Amino acid sequence: MKVSELGEFGLIDLLAKMIPDSQAEKPVIGIGDDAAAWHSDAPVQLATVDTMIQGVHFSLDTVTWKELGWKSLAINLSDIAAMGGTPQYALVALALPEDTEVEDVAGLYEGMIELAGQFRVGIIGGNVSRSPVVSITITVLGDSLSNEILKRSTARPGDTIAITGYPGSAAAGLEMLTKKLQFGAETATYLRSAFMRPKPRITEGQLLLKLGITTAIDTSDGLLADLRHICEASGVSARVDVDRLPIHPAVSNNFGERARELALSGGEDYELLFTGSAEIVERVRAQMEYPVTAIGEITAGEPGKISVVDADGNPAEINKAGWEHF
Ligand SMILES: [Mg+2]
Repeated sequence: MKVSELGEFGLIDLLAKMIPDSQAEKPVIGIGDDAAAWHSDAPVQLATVDTMIQGVHFSLDTVTWKELGWKSLAINLSDIAAMGGTPQYALVALALPEDTEVEDVAGLYEGMIELAGQFRVGIIGGNVSRSPVVSITITVLGDSLSNEILKRSTARPGDTIAITGYPGSAAAGLEMLTKKLQFGAETATYLRSAFMRPKPRITEGQLLLKLGITTAIDTSDGLLADLRHICEASGVSARVDVDRLPIHPAVSNNFGERARELALSGGEDYELLFTGSAEIVERVRAQMEYPVTAIGEITAGEPGKISVVDADGNPAEINKAGWEHF
C-alpha cells in the first residue's frame, strides 16, 4: 500500500503503534497530543537536529530503508555522544513522496527503533508531510548528569590528539557501494555497516568526560576537517602523524595508497576525535573497551592550521585536494 492510500493520520497511527512504550524513561505525554511533555532533573540539557535528504545525503539505490532509519538517528545520537551526554528523546519529521510504500516507511522506523532501543531513547513525537523526495529530520534531546560537557574550544598546545575506531571506514564503504566494488563477504559487511550503521559512541563519550577529557568532536566531515573545527574553536594549530593513523585492514588491504587519504578526509565515521594530556589519553586508551589511538599533537600557531607529517617529521605526501575543500 502507498502512503497516499493510508493517509497522514493512518500512517502516524501505524508508526506510533510500532514504538514500544518501554524504551525510555516514560514521558508525561508522548505521541498523540499537540506536544510531548517530560520531566528532567539533569543540570544540563542538550539538543541537536540533523536532516537527511534523498539525492543529497543518500540514495535509495544503495541503502535499505531500515539502514536509513538507523543512520538518521545515529548521526544525531553521535552529536550527543560528542558532548559526553546521554540521549533521552527523539522527534522525527518525515517528508515523503505520495507513492512511498507503507512497508518501506515501517522499515525505516524499524531501523530507528532498533537503535533507539539500544540506548533507551524514546521517540516521543514528530510529523509527516508530503514532498517530492524523502527527507528525514530528527531532533534528539539529551542531558548530562554533571555540569561538565565535552566542547570544541578547550584544546591546548601540548595536548595529545586521539581518535576512537578506524577513520576512513565509512568513506571506503560509500565508495564500495557507489562504485559497486566487489570484496569478500567479511570486508563487504564491515565496510557497509561502517557507512550505513555507524554506532554512536555514547558510552565512550561519557567515559572521556569521566576521565577528565574536556575537548571532543564527532567525526562527520572527516578527521582533518573536524580537527580543524577543534583548532579554530580553541585558537590552536595541530600536527597529525600520518603513520600513526589507525586504518582498518578492510580499508588498507583494498584501497592501497588511497587508504590514508580516506582516513584523513573521508566523512561520516561518527567516531570521537578528542584531545587531552598524554596521561589522560593513556588512561582513556587503557580503560575504553574500544580502540583509541593517539595520532598527533595540538601545537601553538595559526588557529585552524593543521600539518600532516610522516614518521621523520617531514610533510607527508597526501592528496590535499581530497580535504581542502571542506
Ligand atoms: Mg557533530
